[in-house]
Amino acid sequence: MTNHLAAALGLDDAARHDRRFATLEDGRDYTFGAVDDVSSRFATALIALGVKPGDRVAVQVEKSIEALMLYLGTIRAGAVFLPLNTAYTPTEVAFFVEDAEPALLVCDPSRAEALAPVAAKTGARLETMGVWAADGADHGSLFAHVPQTAAPVTAPRGPDDLAAILYTSGTTGRSKGAMLSHDNLASNARVLVETWRFTADDRLIHALPIYHTHGLFVASNVTLAAGGELIWMAKFAPAPVIAAMGGATALMGVPTFYTRLLAEEGLTPEVCRSMRLFVAGSAPLLAETHRQWQARTGHAILERYGMTEASMITSNPYGGERRAGTVGFPLAGVSLKVTDPESGADLAQGEIGMIRVKGPNVFRGYWKLPEKTAEELSTDGWFITGDLGLIDDRGYVQIVGRGKDLIISGGFNVYPKEVESEIDRLPGVVESAVIGVPHPDFGEGVVAVVVPEDGAAREAEAIIAPLSDRLAKFKQPKRVIFADTLPRNTMGKVQKKALRETHAALFTD
Ligand code: AMP
Repeated sequence: MTNHLAAALGLDDAARHDRRFATLEDGRDYTFGAVDDVSSRFATALIALGVKPGDRVAVQVEKSIEALMLYLGTIRAGAVFLPLNTAYTPTEVAFFVEDAEPALLVCDPSRAEALAPVAAKTGARLETMGVWAADGADHGSLFAHVPQTAAPVTAPRGPDDLAAILYTSGTTGRSKGAMLSHDNLASNARVLVETWRFTADDRLIHALPIYHTHGLFVASNVTLAAGGELIWMAKFAPAPVIAAMGGATALMGVPTFYTRLLAEEGLTPEVCRSMRLFVAGSAPLLAETHRQWQARTGHAILERYGMTEASMITSNPYGGERRAGTVGFPLAGVSLKVTDPESGADLAQGEIGMIRVKGPNVFRGYWKLPEKTAEELSTDGWFITGDLGLIDDRGYVQIVGRGKDLIISGGFNVYPKEVESEIDRLPGVVESAVIGVPHPDFGEGVVAVVVPEDGAAREAEAIIAPLSDRLAKFKQPKRVIFADTLPRNTMGKVQKKALRETHAALFTD
């Protein structure tokens, strides 16, 4: 048996050893030969440290190419990679470590002291890993275990064996560990290479974090599978991304990348001359951003939809029309349907309901939560995404929002996206977030949090009055709150739970 994912990513493909896999910010070139070598050396170190096939390797470290090699080394050793958001506090990390019981916990040197107690409590071995520095500065204890040379490591792993556990971002509830198999990741990489036409000639700007499915799997696995190249950036910043575009072909980003790039004068059709593809996902891209981007650069952003539990699910077409405000069609091999949230019955085209998906991308369940898994993943393979949406008259999928963000006011369903779209069209509005908060008469009252343009008047009436002939009365905001920004997590998702908490007593105080 081979190692299913390692083979799909071509890790030991000797034919491409001399070609470049990544250009790093410190000027180093990283070849595919180095990927093969360093990932095998990490795998050798893990095995020497007692990591066995199926063991979890929990990792909370800064983004670096070595951290990516640690992911690949974990796969090669047959273990299960468990990346953790660098923003999580030691208390939050302790929850994940206690839940996942990893054999090894790798953290930044600055966190070692705070995490030592939870490692000791759970029996995890603790090692540290900073960003590797040529000058020999302290880059952590793990490197001391990595041998100078190692034979290629490929622990046999089949399609159904676990490759990773990713905890959901938990914007609507407690984080759950999504178990992803080798074939979940391999099949998704393969279909995205085809759908987005990635080849060995591509040079992808990689400015996403690598603790999340977008930067870790979509961007990295697709490039590895296609034999293309990464232009590696530790963090996103608009100016370096624009500077890199001249020598790049593709960018994958969350919507905030695009709004921040649009704020730069340097974004012109000329700097995009070698670019062939701009992909957006992980949070809704405003239709307005899509239009502005096209006007400024001549390129239509390709929006896709995915989630931790199911990797990528839909994509706008590469060849056909990329419709603003939609996430396109199900990927090849993926089935999607819209169902009644209560009865589960299929709904007609155009009706809003719960999105369910099925396919080789759908995860194996939630770690140690068989009941939660049974609620959301049926025995015939359909997964209840928790997203509400519809299929439009041309088959494009539209996401209306998370089911948990649905507002029920006076017994009527209010889809926040519908109200937000109307508000966002008003002059002087940058963006908005519509939430439901407890209301003594209506159960929930609709509240709009609005970000006005600089200098625009902050008058609630200027928002509510124009909506009166566009939205039914029960959908209109009962209160408008102006804010300078919306709270977002690192993937650009608006944190509605935080907004609901902030404004919880608005109608009851
Ligand atoms: P995560 O598991 O952190 O990747 O979050 C997945 C969730 O992000 C999905 O269930 C959607 O609610 C949301 N999401 C991802 N991509 C899009 C998109 N293109 N448009 C709207 N929502 C999206």
